[in-house]
Amino acid sequence: MDGTVDPAAATDAARDLLASVYGFADFRPGQAEIVAAVAAGQEVLAILPTGAGKSLCFQLPALMRPGVTLVVSPLIALMRDQVRALQAAGVVAGALTSANTDAETDAVHAALADGTLRLLYLAPERLVSARTLLARANVTAIAVDEAHCVSQWGHDFRPDYLQIGALRKSLGVPLAAFTATADAETRDEIVARLFDGAQPRVFLHGFDRPNIHLAFAAKDRPRAQILDFAAARRGQSGIVYCGTRAKTEGLARAMAEAGHPACAYHGGMEAEARRAVETRFAVEDGLIVCATVAFGMGVDKPDIRWVAHADLPKSIESYYQEIGRAGRDGAPAETLTLFGADDIRLRRSQIDEGLAPPERKDADHGRLNALLGLAEALACRRVQLLAYFGETAEPCGNCDLCDTPPLTFDGTESVRMALSAVLRTGEWFGAGHLIDVLTGKATPKVRERGHDALPTFGVGKATPPRDWQDVFRQMMGRDLLRPDPERHGALRMTDAARPLLRGEATIELRRETARAAPRPAVKALVADEDAPLLSALKAQRRALAEAARVPAYVIFTDRTLVEM
Ligand code: ADP
Ligand code: MG
Ligand code: ZN
Repeated sequence: MDGTVDPAAATDAARDLLASVYGFADFRPGQAEIVAAVAAGQEVLAILPTGAGKSLCFQLPALMRPGVTLVVSPLIALMRDQVRALQAAGVVAGALTSANTDAETDAVHAALADGTLRLLYLAPERLVSARTLLARANVTAIAVDEAHCVSQWGHDFRPDYLQIGALRKSLGVPLAAFTATADAETRDEIVARLFDGAQPRVFLHGFDRPNIHLAFAAKDRPRAQILDFAAARRGQSGIVYCGTRAKTEGLARAMAEAGHPACAYHGGMEAEARRAVETRFAVEDGLIVCATVAFGMGVDKPDIRWVAHADLPKSIESYYQEIGRAGRDGAPAETLTLFGADDIRLRRSQIDEGLAPPERKDADHGRLNALLGLAEALACRRVQLLAYFGETAEPCGNCDLCDTPPLTFDGTESVRMALSAVLRTGEWFGAGHLIDVLTGKATPKVRERGHDALPTFGVGKATPPRDWQDVFRQMMGRDLLRPDPERHGALRMTDAARPLLRGEATIELRRETARAAPRPAVKALVADEDAPLLSALKAQRRALAEAARVPAYVIFTDRTLVEM
């Protein structure tokens, strides 16, 4: 397709526009090359992390090319924001969406008719009905934002995106696709579906977000773990991703009770209520949003200081996108992802019970494994995360495992005991029963099944049940054991476990230490406005602490907590 623009000249022109239209001094990493390629009419697939500045990579070239650049974007809110920003910068841009006023639509048609329109944003569901309009308009390029929406792999699949490939062919203009999702399958699917198999120039850039601190923790006291994390960051804007709608509401209430400004957000809420949360989050400092993954693409707040996952995300891609919403301004940001055996069971069953064909289910299990591998990592998480995206890195010094290397132990013997319990009970049971067998607990179920007569009965007595739970979770996390949906989630051995069972491999496991020191029980005096003098309160507190031999606090009814 037309390649008449000299890339070097394009970059000079682009720099001028960068300053005059956007007021930016410099391109961010990756932008200059992509802008030059798109402006030169090359077909491009650009994969840049969230916050890298992808919008500019198609907006700027649109100003350098003749005619109209058609932009397909999945969310009306995103389109309207971009159009508003462009118009404010003096660019003639417009959108055709269901949210348009008649005046807005008329303005778009007028600008199309007189040839002044440079960027036309189109909602995906308008692609078919706008075909005649587009054929008549002087469309010279197509830009597809959030291009992973064309892929059935992720949770953002938009069937309307499947129309784009045909539109590219019928208009005969170059297409540039943008996404933050990097894995090879999604990339292949984007190329196949948007470019009709033609090979675009691929730009794959910098996945590291060095300012984001990475941390995972096994679920122990899940709600308290999240509340503690938020309490240590009081006043900072954050998102807690939850696995269910009900949990977003429960957690938002708990946050509010703990004195944080907080609200819930999920797909079951009225559109208006959701917009209200989005707006509040954008303008308010220190708001905590407890949300499902529905709170996502539309979030464009640069100073989100933390993102927590109350439940394990569904894949390493989702994890990366979700934590990537923190710290887009480049300042330090923190994350915490909780995970437990229940999450693994849930995510496995969602894949198994889904309607995808078998080979896709295998791939989905593989992506989940990649995330679980990250959760159970023994060394720098960033090294492992970036390796998944094809980048090599040095230990980062900004993750929990770099901060505190985990304690590990040779888990080979434990794993072999667990596997033998699984096999000897016929692969028909969950971790709870298997742990009863291993620790020699003759429950009615154990006796009824005759499992107290097995040679494995009691062989793991020396290890407390809680540590066995860690062993089973890690075995599930490393995909040595998998719940079988056809056996009510009973754990079955995978092929990956065979070398261990045969004594041909060894395995290192983490020893969970986070809960090694139980939190002391706390005594509290509640003081309201009728409280006695402070000095009297202090004396009461001291007496309480001495009597109970634990720390004591005074809680005022305005929720401040003081240690005196
Ligand atoms: P993405 O779509 O890749 O997530 P955006 O296009 O939304 O990122 O850009 C993220 C932020 O970065 C926006 O606030 C944008 O104005 C800003 N930005 C983009 N390019 C530059 C640049 N070259 N210099 C400074 N800020 C930039
Ligand atoms: Mg974007
Ligand atoms: Zn690290």
